[in-house]
Amino acid sequence: MNSAQSSPQAAIVGAGPAGMLLAWLLVKNGIRVAIIERHPDFSREFRGEGIQASVVKHLDELGLMDQILKKGMGIRAEAARVFFDNKPVAVLKGIDGNTDFGLILHQEKFLAHLHEKLSESPLYTSYLGHNATQFDGKDEKIVSVRIADKQKKEQSISADVFFITTGRGTALRKKLGMKSFKVATHWNILWILLPEPEQKELLPKGFRAYLNGDSLFIMYTNSEGMIQLAWGRRDENVLKQRDFDQRKSALLSEIPRQYKTLIERGYTQASRSQFLKVECDRLHQWHKKNVLFLGDAAHTMTPVAGQGINLAMRDSIVAANHCIPLLQNNHPIDQIVFHNIEKERIKEVKMMQKFQQKFGYFMLGAPKWQSKIFFLILLPVLKKVGIQKRMLRKIQTGVSDVRFEHKS
Ligand SMILES: Cc1cc2nc3c(=O)[nH]c(=O)nc-3n(C[C@H](O)[C@H](O)[C@H](O)COP(=O)(O)OP(=O)(O)OC[C@H]3O[C@@H](n4cnc5c(N)ncnc54)[C@H](O)[C@@H]3O)c2cc1C
Repeated sequence: MNSAQSSPQAAIVGAGPAGMLLAWLLVKNGIRVAIIERHPDFSREFRGEGIQASVVKHLDELGLMDQILKKGMGIRAEAARVFFDNKPVAVLKGIDGNTDFGLILHQEKFLAHLHEKLSESPLYTSYLGHNATQFDGKDEKIVSVRIADKQKKEQSISADVFFITTGRGTALRKKLGMKSFKVATHWNILWILLPEPEQKELLPKGFRAYLNGDSLFIMYTNSEGMIQLAWGRRDENVLKQRDFDQRKSALLSEIPRQYKTLIERGYTQASRSQFLKVECDRLHQWHKKNVLFLGDAAHTMTPVAGQGINLAMRDSIVAANHCIPLLQNNHPIDQIVFHNIEKERIKEVKMMQKFQQKFGYFMLGAPKWQSKIFFLILLPVLKKVGIQKRMLRKIQTGVSDVRFEHKS
């Protein structure tokens, strides 16, 4: 634990992209913050790293983009390309066609960087390696969150306001009696990390999605030159197959030809890989008493079109905009403030979840003939009439106007 002198005004539970960016914005504006994270560091299970143009712009305005690029925390993604049976069916470039599509951000390095810089401030207290388990309150107010370290040693952290940014499947929803509903998803994913290929030009900067037969492959080169491969499949038993040789031979038989050597040489028993269940849901209401849920904890996103980190960070910017002046003046934050934050964000969340559901369905959920019609006939028609471009623009820039309004 590193510690500030007096008790925090805001306790943030969960040090993912939503929590750490919120901590950054609040501390920069003189607010005392405590961050609670169950992991002892920022290394993560496999997670997406795709950052859209909208968040690249935010990071730039916050003065973080330069550091990201200089310190190797991310690399520019020139474009995202989608192929159906090896035919190109969609290309996403920068917003005006000239700039990059977005960024491939190394989450672990980025979050660790924010934490390191924040730790220089006396306003920032961190409890890494502490799991938040319960809330304690009086009347209409939560006064503290109970946290426990690895040895189950408990302590309580008091604050005026609590932000829950604990990501998908968080048990803290239940602790506060939050109600949610599910949005349908259609497939799960096996993540595999592959070594840097001998042919460096194999995967040009950016993202590639291939729909080949019964499989979906999402691939990109990360900031360390390694290749991230997400493999989704209509019959997912193959992904969960315990026998490595059988899994590898299924992968080799379905992956696009140009990547076969990479898999043959690079995919071994020792490769890092993980089966991830794809989920999508959202809370009926994001807040209760003086507690606000943000990011995946409020609305869990699927990997389709790389939206989750982006929405999570944009939630934090909007929450910070509303809360900073109140916290600076020691004014209470009531339900109306939280309601307004949710209202400002919900349109974008609903639209993106709807898009993820529909696009995800046509990727692997629909019968093959429907997917074929969608990608080879409908998508080109949408392109001709300009709808595809408008749709892609929304994915890249979001549907609401988000801008950080305080000191960055
Ligand atoms: C396979 C896959 C690929 C994806 N690809 C992309 C992509 O390319 N682009 C994109 O934008 N999004 C992508 N996403 C979604 C994205 O990963 C999430 O939407 C994003 O990480 C949400 O950020 P968050 O800060 O809300 O939560 P998280 O990143 O989940 O962070 C939550 C943090 O809270 C901590 N925590 C949880 N419970 C507790 C507790 N009780 N006490 C203390 N700490 C706790 C966790 O350890 C974690 O550090 C993908 C998701 C999946 C599953």
